[in-house]
Amino acid sequence: MTAQFDQHAFEQAAEELCRYGRILYANNWSPATSSNYSVRLSADACALTSSGKHKGELTPADILAVNMHGEPLTQGKPSAETLLHTQLYQRDAQIGAVLHTHSPTVVLLSQIWAQDSLSITGWELQKAFAGETTHEGTVTFPIFANDQDIARLASEVEQSMKNNGQGHAYLIRGHGVYTWGKDLAECFRHLEAIEHLLGYQLELLKLRQS
Ligand SMILES: [Zn+2]
Repeated sequence: MTAQFDQHAFEQAAEELCRYGRILYANNWSPATSSNYSVRLSADACALTSSGKHKGELTPADILAVNMHGEPLTQGKPSAETLLHTQLYQRDAQIGAVLHTHSPTVVLLSQIWAQDSLSITGWELQKAFAGETTHEGTVTFPIFANDQDIARLASEVEQSMKNNGQGHAYLIRGHGVYTWGKDLAECFRHLEAIEHLLGYQLELLKLRQS
C-alpha cells in the first residue's frame, strides 16, 4: 500500500522543520550536520530531515517524506536514524513530532553517567513535560548504549518502552537525546527542558566533586 500524505501538510512541515533547525543549530544542540527532526504527516508517513545537512541552513529541499518503514516517498536520502523516529510514530498515534539533537550537555552527561537511566526530581522545570504537574514527581530518562545498527537500537528502545513506559525522552550514550511531543512546539519545549534539567545535573556533579 502506498503511504498517503497531504502535499500541503508536507510543505508546511518542511518549512517548520527548517525554522526549528535554525533555532536548534543556534543553540549549539545540532553541530556538524548531526541531529534529525521529523513531523508526522499521517498515520503512515512523516516529514524528516535528509541525511548530512547543516541544520542551521536547512531549506525545504532538505526535507523528505518517508513511510513508517523508513522508506523515502519523495526525493532525498533519509537520515541514518530514521527508524528511531518511525518507532515512536508507530507506537503512539498522539506523537506528532520528534527531535533528536547532540548538545554538549546531553553528550557529556550521558557519557559519564554510569547507570542505564537517569532520574530527576525536585525541579520546577519538570512541569514543562506534558502531563507532569509537580516538581515532586520523578522523571526518568533511559540511557541506551550507542549503536550504529539503528534497527537493533530501535527494537531495544521499543522493548524498554514496553517494559518501563514510554516516558518523555531517552538518551543515547555519548551521542544525544530523542524527545517527542504532540507537535513541534511541544516537542521543542520538552527538548529545552531536558537541556536545562540535565544541565543542572551536570553542574551538580561538578560542584559535588570540587
Ligand atoms: Zn544522532
